Amino acid sequence: MAANDTQRWKEKYLALAEQQDARDKDWQGRLDLLRRGLVRTSMAAEGSDPAVDQCMGELRTQLRQNDNDQGMAALIPRLEKIVLHSEEQREERLTLLAKALRQLSEQLQELPIPKPLGKQLKQLAKQVDQRVRHLKDLPALVEELGSLQAQIIVQIQGAEEERPGFWQRLIKGKQQTEANSTAQDDPAAAPSAGTAAAPTAEPPASSAAVTPDPAPAASPLTPGPKAYAINEAPEPGYSAIAEHIEATLSSLLSALEIPDTHRSQGETLIERVTAGLNWYELAAVLDELKVLVLACLNQGEHEFQRYLAALNERLSSFQDNLKDAHIGYQESLSSAHELDRDLREQVDGLQSSVKQATDLDNLKRTVESRLDGLLSTMDTYQQARDQREKQVAQKLQTLVDKVANMEDEAKNFRAHLEEQKQKALQDALTGLPNRAAWEERLGLEVARWQRYGGDLQLAVIDVDFFKKINDSYGHLAGDKVLRIIAQEVAKRLRKTDFVARFGGEEFVVLLPATDLEAGFKVLDDLRRGIEACPFHFKGAPLTITVSCGISAFADKDSASQVFERADQALYAAKNGGRNQVRKAETPST
Ligand code: GH3
Ligand code: MG
Ligand code: MG
Repeated sequence: MAANDTQRWKEKYLALAEQQDARDKDWQGRLDLLRRGLVRTSMAAEGSDPAVDQCMGELRTQLRQNDNDQGMAALIPRLEKIVLHSEEQREERLTLLAKALRQLSEQLQELPIPKPLGKQLKQLAKQVDQRVRHLKDLPALVEELGSLQAQIIVQIQGAEEERPGFWQRLIKGKQQTEANSTAQDDPAAAPSAGTAAAPTAEPPASSAAVTPDPAPAASPLTPGPKAYAINEAPEPGYSAIAEHIEATLSSLLSALEIPDTHRSQGETLIERVTAGLNWYELAAVLDELKVLVLACLNQGEHEFQRYLAALNERLSSFQDNLKDAHIGYQESLSSAHELDRDLREQVDGLQSSVKQATDLDNLKRTVESRLDGLLSTMDTYQQARDQREKQVAQKLQTLVDKVANMEDEAKNFRAHLEEQKQKALQDALTGLPNRAAWEERLGLEVARWQRYGGDLQLAVIDVDFFKKINDSYGHLAGDKVLRIIAQEVAKRLRKTDFVARFGGEEFVVLLPATDLEAGFKVLDDLRRGIEACPFHFKGAPLTITVSCGISAFADKDSASQVFERADQALYAAKNGGRNQVRKAETPST
């Protein structure tokens, strides 16, 4: 009977020991799988941001030194698929964008431009592939290209002014329909902003001279008269490359994945490009294009943010799994201890009962020694198992910590994305909110107004004769004027008001909780403030003015209706002699 018990316990013990070994192996396999899954997941963020790249790299290195899970086997191929898909899409878009940007800069290089500009363009073209890799560098790249192009325009314009007949021929084709407004805006015809226009070297071919002599000393950008030569025939110029530029811009626009909020803007832009551009339109189109690229970028960031959120969810489920597994393992550990204790008690009982059997000395000794052996084997095994279990538990804990760490990194990255989003909503030149930010805020304020009622004013501000400022003093001086005006506007508004650069030399303002009269006063003060700004160009004082149109939101108005009215009021202000604010008629309800 006693021998039977011993045998039964021994078999039970061995079976348990085997089970334990199998479980250890199983855990090892799971740890490996989990590690691989994490390594692959971490690759998802590769290339999106160097900071993430680095932390993911570190994470991978650490993971490679450890072990492994099986329940996640289905999860890993899914993760791989998502990562591959997002990578492919990004790659395609980047390649198209890079190609279009390269073409644009190559076409600009074909123009008769001074060497330094050519060199800068070449360098930019070389960097395109590299810089386009990081989406966050894209706005800066487009901006640089735009700025180089603006400089080229100024340079070429300067050169053309040396040969008025040629310049007229170049733009004649494109500008016939604009003949009236051009003549009206002609800085030579209007009282000039303080520049004494020097007579041109050659007399103009006709009275419709487009630009005055820029008075070379006054313009920081005016090139020396003999800075570069222009061939007599065939004469290169914008008209010569217009088709190329238009085609490139069209392909760039079609390569952009424009978000719904900017779709109509994108379509209008494509129409404008297809209809044909002149120099000034090209500058404005590039400005708008920048806004679109930023909007697309913003969308890309939203996509990536969504992806990160999904990734985060998966990671937290990983973590939960691991925690559960850990707890389960701890439980199985303690039940194994309990079992050992019972076993020991049983064997002790067996030992004492054998001791009491006095008649069979031999048997007693044999059974005793066997039981001793059994107990000592069990002790050894218990120790080894405790040690192994401790190790596995430690590994699991490390993995739990790592996943928690990774979650922290993802949180940091989200904060970083938020920062980038802020940048994408900012106009690079003036630092004011840009068109995209305007659309967002307008939607918000209109929704608030529809819900709570009250007063809301929308105003449009446009710099007067800004083209003349560019023509007389150069694009860079024009940029500076825009920055100063932006500062003036921003500093005169309340915290709850909102101002954005709408594009070019136009600004838009929202005045919540303000009635039309009060809004008019705010804008008129602002207009006066700008008029009083002591602008100087090369020591010569210059007065710059703005015109504004303001309109109130009234019963059931949509944002575009109010905008339209404010725009018409602006038009009336321009027609009424500029440097004034006009109120739009509020429709009676
Ligand atoms: P008006 O009084 O009727 O508004 O005349 P204007 O000359 O101000 O208006 P127009 O729309 O004819 O010209 C605006 C010019 O502003 C044309 C464009 O080249 C220039 N412009 C647009 N954006 C920028 C910019 O970012 N920097 C500079 N320097 N010029 C710009
Ligand atoms: Mg304008
Ligand atoms: Mg203007």
